[in-house]
Amino acid sequence: MNISIFGTGYVGLVTGVCFAELGNDVVCYDIDKNKIEQLKRKKVPFFEPELEELIIKNIDKKRIYFTNNLDEAVKDRKVIFVSVGTPQKRNGAVNLSSVKNVANDIGRKLKSYTIIVNKSTVPVGTGTVIKKIIRKNYNGDFDVVSNPEFLREGSAVSDFMNPERIVIGANFAKPKKIINNLYNLFDCPIVNTSIETAEMIKYASNAFLATKISFINEIANVCERVGADIKEVAYAMGLDSRIGDKFLNAGIGYGGSCFPKDVKALHNIALDNNYNFKLLKSVIKVNNDQRLIIVSKTENLLKNLNNKKICVWGLAFKPNTDDTRESAAIDIIRSLHRKNAIVNTYDPIADYKKFVLNNNFRKKINFYFDKYDALENCDALIIATEWDEFKNADLKKVKKLLKKPNIVDGRNIYNPNKIKKLGFRYLSVGR
Ligand code: NAD
Repeated sequence: MNISIFGTGYVGLVTGVCFAELGNDVVCYDIDKNKIEQLKRKKVPFFEPELEELIIKNIDKKRIYFTNNLDEAVKDRKVIFVSVGTPQKRNGAVNLSSVKNVANDIGRKLKSYTIIVNKSTVPVGTGTVIKKIIRKNYNGDFDVVSNPEFLREGSAVSDFMNPERIVIGANFAKPKKIINNLYNLFDCPIVNTSIETAEMIKYASNAFLATKISFINEIANVCERVGADIKEVAYAMGLDSRIGDKFLNAGIGYGGSCFPKDVKALHNIALDNNYNFKLLKSVIKVNNDQRLIIVSKTENLLKNLNNKKICVWGLAFKPNTDDTRESAAIDIIRSLHRKNAIVNTYDPIADYKKFVLNNNFRKKINFYFDKYDALENCDALIIATEWDEFKNADLKKVKKLLKKPNIVDGRNIYNPNKIKKLGFRYLSVGR
């Protein structure tokens, strides 16, 4: 099928490349000229496992190409996927300007029947908004479908190729049949719904997962006070198939470009419709507080943080991605700065320049390209991301390099007994 993808970020690029791999003819369009130039040179503008090999393969097979020419992106395409960003506004509402711009651009260029499939996460009712904007510029036949995406950064290609379910929200039989056909190679349930229900499924799923994380973090905080071990509690809870073992890792909470914004958006959507979603308000508050618990623990270990040198391992919001959007490390570093600490950091692949540029830090951060170099003369090490590289670190070397053998582990990656035997003062979450 002739497919076009608007937006070559984590979702758009993975969608485009995977559909090309499945034998479709794909064109990817983005307004970011730099990104398109890189992609034409077979360079992926961000880190995502498996993606580069697949891009090179499919460019060579002429199944995918990249453009910033709008005419090329719309001409002769049967299906156009929209996968542009939907960030949050200051008030927590969703900023739909990119989605609206895309609808406007597509409407100006359409010449024949096309299905516009929205993959961006958007409030209920956005499908209708897209339709109205296109209709302003185009009188012919077209349809709008909602197809929310559930892939996770860090395993996006594998998630896209092996989904647990595909949701197709279509209000008419013709687009429903065509988009179901497009996905017929996938071996998973396809849930056909209305556009509105599909839009809601995405928010409900993300909000539920975020709730699970905040729940286990609160259990962890109680465990600390009563002398229970959260790892064992979570393990035993997870054996119950009604609960499941995923998203039960206590720590410093969720981050990234999706959960924080989607939970706030759903809370806002409910408010706009005269419903106070009390539970989600608490989920957000628990998550915000949880990030800073790790700073209080460091402060308790060191008495105060004034002029203390602290090393933070991990800037990405989770392992296997370079994405630092809404990562816990941002709040942790801000809080350390407020308490007048000196901050060293290391992350295996996060982009330091972007991290500084996007976050307006009050003070300088010292970035290192080697995790051990970052430790030198530090009063404590904080673990903010559970990279394998940190799990497998040479802890004897860590102890030698730190000025004082203090580790505050925000991701529970070490065994408390083993690490204490090595002579560390060690604090983690819920143990
Ligand atoms: P992203 O920020 O990585 O990429 C968005 C891309 O859209 C950028 O390259 C940007 O230049 C491009 N863009 C902006 N305006 C455009 C326009 N008018 N025309 C063409 N391109 C334009 O975003 P992302 O992380 O891929 O997320 C996209 C959407 O998918 C969001 O709604 C997000 O909530 C949702 N989502 C993301 C994930 C994830 O893990 N990142 C997972 C599921 C759903």
